[in-house]
Amino acid sequence: MSALTATTTPRRDRHSRRWLARYGDWLARHQPIVRRVQWVVVGAYMILLIVPAVLPLPGNDAHALDNFTVFAQWAFWGLWWPFVIASMFVMGRTWCGVFCPEGTLTEAASKVGLHRAPPRWLRWGGWPFVAFVLTTLFGQLVSVYQYPKAALLVLGGSTVAAIVVGYVYGREKRVWCRYLCPVSGVFNVLARVSPVAFRIDRDGWDRNAGHVPIHPINCAPLVRIKHMTGPSECHMCGRCSGHLGAVELAARPPNREVATLPLAKASGWDAALIVFGLIGVALGAFHWNASPWFVSLKLAAADFAIDHGMTWLLTADAPWWVLTHYPESNDVFTWLDGALIVTYIGVTALVVGGAVSLFLLLAARAGPAPRLRHGMRLAYALIPLAGIGVFLGLSSLTVTLARAEGITTSAVPALRALLLAAGAGWSLWLAWRQLADVPRATARWAALVAFAGAVALTVGAWGLLFFHWAR
Ligand code: SF4
Repeated sequence: MSALTATTTPRRDRHSRRWLARYGDWLARHQPIVRRVQWVVVGAYMILLIVPAVLPLPGNDAHALDNFTVFAQWAFWGLWWPFVIASMFVMGRTWCGVFCPEGTLTEAASKVGLHRAPPRWLRWGGWPFVAFVLTTLFGQLVSVYQYPKAALLVLGGSTVAAIVVGYVYGREKRVWCRYLCPVSGVFNVLARVSPVAFRIDRDGWDRNAGHVPIHPINCAPLVRIKHMTGPSECHMCGRCSGHLGAVELAARPPNREVATLPLAKASGWDAALIVFGLIGVALGAFHWNASPWFVSLKLAAADFAIDHGMTWLLTADAPWWVLTHYPESNDVFTWLDGALIVTYIGVTALVVGGAVSLFLLLAARAGPAPRLRHGMRLAYALIPLAGIGVFLGLSSLTVTLARAEGITTSAVPALRALLLAAGAGWSLWLAWRQLADVPRATARWAALVAFAGAVALTVGAWGLLFFHWAR
């Protein structure tokens, strides 16, 4: 189907290209099958989300194979969420385009809805960052990983919002995914190191336009296909594969996009999401529960509240949809708990994110002006480490669940250390490649040392959690 050829590449490379291109073409030809898969995922998602919320909470001795709530916890938080993050490093945003239930539902709603054009406020570039931060904070306040009603509220709320946005905006489009989804920004940056992407042959496109039959392509996430240069916005749905004989799924060097990112394409919102979101907020969200500093802060704040007549802060009368409230499990948050969780995560994000930003700006001083933009571009080099950190944080629930099932987890510390080392090494290599435009070798090395400060800080913060607090 695809007319693209690679005549000068090694045989093995050509073979993998053919294999990938065939997969892309298969997706294009078999969209009815893809749609069926998507609706099966929607059905499974609904069952896993709704049924546990109406069942009684599981006892301490419940297991995945004899309790549906524990099974759903495994499915959502133990496997689905960490491995969706991991999949971005392997197949880009295939999750979004082929499996994501919210994507399916918002697109279906958009088919029958009002078909309005997305207004300017909705297209604001800061939504992915803001939505990620707010969802993470709210998820921690209601203990989304632990309780089915909280999962229904957070995930179900997001799904309802996706359907409403789909109903109002676009025509068979995924306006929600493109602009508002709380994890679209995360997927967007992680997919930048994906080893596969739909590659566009612009010359072939121009050559063939008007000479071959054209089948209109509905690109649901609103990608300008002809001008696409990477997989960050592409949902890998495959609908455009083979279009005009100029679109082909192909392997690519996973480092190239970040290593050669033009300065003008470095976005402040992406940099903020990587440094303050994926590193800072994520660290705060996974730290607070294990942190002895949080306990000390809580004791000091409780004393202060009592001494100053603010005992209402110590009451636990907030409903479960505002703060965690499960007296039957001896798990209730006071108003003080809620305030301290938000404070702890916020301060961690600002301190770690601020320090990482300073290291990046220091590294950027070695390069030519504009230095702020150089610093923003260097933030992209942290993508592997940031993504691996989030994967490890999310998979800590997988480890907890595995231990409860009696599965041995003795290899976990070594695997964590290995993954953190791989993320650190990968990020350092990306930064080194980005710093190729620094004129002098000594300045390039000095910039790498400054960048290594950001890497060391991030690795140290995850290490503190995994190897000191929560062993
Ligand atoms: S560019 Fe659009 S149509 Fe093509 S694979 Fe990506 S999401 Fe699908």
